[in-house]
Amino acid sequence: MKTITLAFAISMTLFSSISFANNDKPFALAIHGGAGTIKKSSFTPEQEQAYRAKLKEAVDAGYTVLEKGGSSLTAVTTAINVLEDSPYFNAGKGAVYTHNEEHEMDASIMDGNTMNAGAVAGVKHIKNPIDLARLVMDESVHVMLYGQGAEEFALTQGVPLVANETFNTQKRYEGLQRAKAKMAEAKSSADYQAAHQQLDTEYKVGTVGAVALDKQGNISAGTSTGGMTNKRYGRIGDAPVIGAGTYAENGVCAVSATGHGEYFIRYQVAGDICAKVKYQQKSIIQAADEVINQRLITAGGTGGVIAIDHRGNIATPFNTEGMYRATRKNGEEAQVMIWRDK
Ligand code: ASP
Repeated sequence: MKTITLAFAISMTLFSSISFANNDKPFALAIHGGAGTIKKSSFTPEQEQAYRAKLKEAVDAGYTVLEKGGSSLTAVTTAINVLEDSPYFNAGKGAVYTHNEEHEMDASIMDGNTMNAGAVAGVKHIKNPIDLARLVMDESVHVMLYGQGAEEFALTQGVPLVANETFNTQKRYEGLQRAKAKMAEAKSSADYQAAHQQLDTEYKVGTVGAVALDKQGNISAGTSTGGMTNKRYGRIGDAPVIGAGTYAENGVCAVSATGHGEYFIRYQVAGDICAKVKYQQKSIIQAADEVINQRLITAGGTGGVIAIDHRGNIATPFNTEGMYRATRKNGEEAQVMIWRDK
């Protein structure tokens, strides 16, 4: 009898220490809804509240996946789906217009555990481009598919195509008209460059992304966007480019970017941040800050990132007026922020 009691006591102790160990594993995620010229004065209190509520809904959706022991990849796609389905953000439903008054979307996802990645570029008929990026990663032997080919692949995976008009919104249409008027005003090539530079922060805010650390210690990153207002000639931004707009490596860091894509591609922003963590042993906060607030500023590139490391430390630097963002760590409430002072 005594032996049985002792065995029971030992197994209960073991059981509780195992379950304590599981509960104790850090998990966390961060999301963004784009960086740029986000003027406080352009919001009514109700509008600001609505944006904050949507960011909270997205971060909470991802958090629930992690809390239940789900993977960081699923937390990332779940959070991004909420933002893609909202007209507030420049991805999925709220995607900006191209010069030809269409919508062309880019997205990518990376699994820090396997270093596998998937991306789609210039898709016009996919409701949730981040889900197609994940299918490219999981179900194809490729990393990046573009345009019609990506959509043919979607059909083979049972993903229906939707009309491009599905992504129409009045607000983005007006943004395109303003962008066109601004570009038409620019006469010299120098003026054109300056006008174009301004377009990037004023007219296309809202790319979305997520980074997450799950209870298994795996980190992932994903990004989804409609790109830049008034873009032409099949322009592709940084969002689907692994190492530019998205990067994840277990034990190092996971990054999702938003900003003027041409700079993020040339400066390999997401990869550069993780390289500083990996090879220079810099903290995620320092590494992300150096790239966004030093290197990119010197280059003239505007934007920001969300980054997470394998301990659940989070950095959200940006060099623009604002960046829609939210974070949530295990056992804590969600933090939702738009400007520097929250
Ligand atoms: N990075 C995106 C692009 O250049 C746009 C953005 O983040 O606002 O396509």
